[in-house]
Amino acid sequence: MLVVEDDVATATALRHVLERHGHQVTVAHTGSAALSAAGNEPPDLVLLDLGLPDLDGIEVCRRLRSTLPDVVIVMLSGRAGEMDVVVGLEVGADDYLAKPVGADELLARLHAHLRRAEPRTIPGTTLSVGSLTLDTDARQACVAGRPMPLRRKEFDLLARLAAEPGVAVARATLMAEVWDEHWFGPTKTLDVHVASLRRKLAASGADTPRIVTLRRHGYRLDADPSDLGNREGNRTCR
Ligand code: CA
Repeated sequence: MLVVEDDVATATALRHVLERHGHQVTVAHTGSAALSAAGNEPPDLVLLDLGLPDLDGIEVCRRLRSTLPDVVIVMLSGRAGEMDVVVGLEVGADDYLAKPVGADELLARLHAHLRRAEPRTIPGTTLSVGSLTLDTDARQACVAGRPMPLRRKEFDLLARLAAEPGVAVARATLMAEVWDEHWFGPTKTLDVHVASLRRKLAASGADTPRIVTLRRHGYRLDADPSDLGNREGNRTCR
């Protein structure tokens, strides 16, 4: 596990808590030290402070994500504004914790993420919705036979929706099944992942399945975009 924190006292406290719970911890005090540490020995999880003396934590996250697509990145920041959360998730963070964070909450969240780093989809299944196919063994998504690269959680989320095409899935269900059953963080992460999936699906072809927003409920994957009445989820009756 890589802890990126410029404040020496905070970094030392984090190291002690994590090591006491059996984690092997590398500490980096700057963004550039973090990038070279991650390059030398790819970590399973990065706990990343946003306020660093050299590079912004957002930039560090972006670079880590581009080289390590599967690493779990948890941002830690005193700046808990909504925009920071959204930007952090958009550049590839898996979670965002506001300082100060208690040791128990920190450990619960990190352990949940490390458990979730295992693929959550049922092995040996191929899901097909319209032109979209998801091979859950290979963890590969294809549209009309062409691969559509997805990040880990994007794949899990799309696979969950594709398991029941045309069926509304509640936000709480998606958070529990794709992220964690004890999720108590911002559910904004769900909307950010949906937005990213929509961009990728739209870029993959004209007749790709669409993710429909059901206001105050959740999302639904529709095979046929002509069914898409509007973004409120009304569709043509059959
Ligand atoms: Ca800092």
